[in-house]
Amino acid sequence: MSRCLSERAIDHVVLERGEVANSWRTERWDSLRLLTPNWQSRLPGFGYEGDDPDGYRSMPETVEFLDRYARVISAPVETHTTVTSVESDNVAYWVSTDQGDWRCRSVVLASGACNIARVPAIAEAVPSGIAMLSAMDYRNPDQLDRGGVLVVGASATGTQLADEIHRSGRPVTISVGEHIRAPRLYRGRDLEWWMDAAGVLDERYDEMEDINRARSLPSLQLAGTVNRTTLDLNALTEIGVKLIGRLAGINDGKAQFSGSLRNQCALSDLKMGRLLDTIDEWASENGLDGEVESPHRLEPTVVEDTPPLGMDLTNGEIKTIIWATGYYPDYSWLNVPVLDRKGRIRHDGGIVSEAPGLYLMGIQFLRRRKSAHMDGVGDDARDLSAHLVAHLDGTAVA
Ligand SMILES: Cc1cc2nc3c(=O)[nH]c(=O)nc-3n(C[C@H](O)[C@H](O)[C@H](O)COP(=O)(O)OP(=O)(O)OC[C@H]3O[C@@H](n4cnc5c(N)ncnc54)[C@H](O)[C@@H]3O)c2cc1C
Repeated sequence: MSRCLSERAIDHVVLERGEVANSWRTERWDSLRLLTPNWQSRLPGFGYEGDDPDGYRSMPETVEFLDRYARVISAPVETHTTVTSVESDNVAYWVSTDQGDWRCRSVVLASGACNIARVPAIAEAVPSGIAMLSAMDYRNPDQLDRGGVLVVGASATGTQLADEIHRSGRPVTISVGEHIRAPRLYRGRDLEWWMDAAGVLDERYDEMEDINRARSLPSLQLAGTVNRTTLDLNALTEIGVKLIGRLAGINDGKAQFSGSLRNQCALSDLKMGRLLDTIDEWASENGLDGEVESPHRLEPTVVEDTPPLGMDLTNGEIKTIIWATGYYPDYSWLNVPVLDRKGRIRHDGGIVSEAPGLYLMGIQFLRRRKSAHMDGVGDDARDLSAHLVAHLDGTAVA
């Protein structure tokens, strides 16, 4: 957004509570690599220029990439400046920070979609002898006691943590709810390449039948690994990780799991099949069939006949529970009445119509399926900066 505003000669400032790329520096686990390939970080006027376009950046590489971008575009970043309040008097916005206050005609909320780890209320019933960590607190397996680990959540984060922790010698059980299975490579190309080429990532928010549902879907079960392997539930089962249903409750130290594991896995296989059908259709229509490998399907997810429905959390087998149950944004400092009853900002593709001049960025499916990925913010910033300029000129259409 800063780059787009500069292009349009809009005087602006970027307020950042830490350093540039703060969430990548401080909120991710050590071994994480981006699940999007290197070529897929196309920021306005900037992109990957190295010799490994299909690789996946480590965290230090990601930080370096964003740091360099901020320097190249001379982004006017005020670091170590925490916004403590944003208010509106209907003429202007008043932004308070721990480094002084600002008055401005427009505010872009780009504070991230993943500020707080979502931990279900059931966590309160976990017996006291068990350590609990959210995916945001987790750094590496050395942090954990020896002994069993229950990872709750089986999307991109949960599957990666289950894999790493199990390989460290701590037996892992993963609790599986709704998830979306995805092969890393399909017909010899990265799944992200296919979704990008076939236009899946460009699908627009105003074309979705149920945008709220689309915005709350879990992340694809993808991981950025050096050897470009698929990390799905079958891969976890192969190394010995145990699958169990969705965690439904904890009573007297006994955890209860939903009996829907088979159904969840079958549904996930089905959704993956539909995505691959879309890709195959697009490949045929675009004459790629002769160039790439033939279509194929993955083996169904293997689930034992009668997965357990309960687990005794008091017998000492489980030493740690990791909550990989998602994240949500923090708007506790936003004192403009634009939140719905679930704490989400009411907006139309990032335009907060109830508060003219207020914009939102970086949220899942904000304007396009790719909006919450680095590769997606460029198009959103172009659209929203155009609207912002019209707002400043007094010609914006609601
Ligand atoms: C585990 C994980 C893995 C991911 N992997 C990928 C991936 O492989 N590829 C990809 O494209 N995306 C990935 N994402 C999504 C990724 O978060 C976004 O692509 C990207 O970080 C969004 O950028 P952003 O600037 O909108 O948000 P953020 O990167 O979260 O940046 C928001 C910034 O706002 C600052 N901030 C927040 N509140 C305040 C305040 N009150 N005052 C001042 N500053 C504040 C924060 O310090 C932070 O620097 C992943 C997300 C997670 C959680």
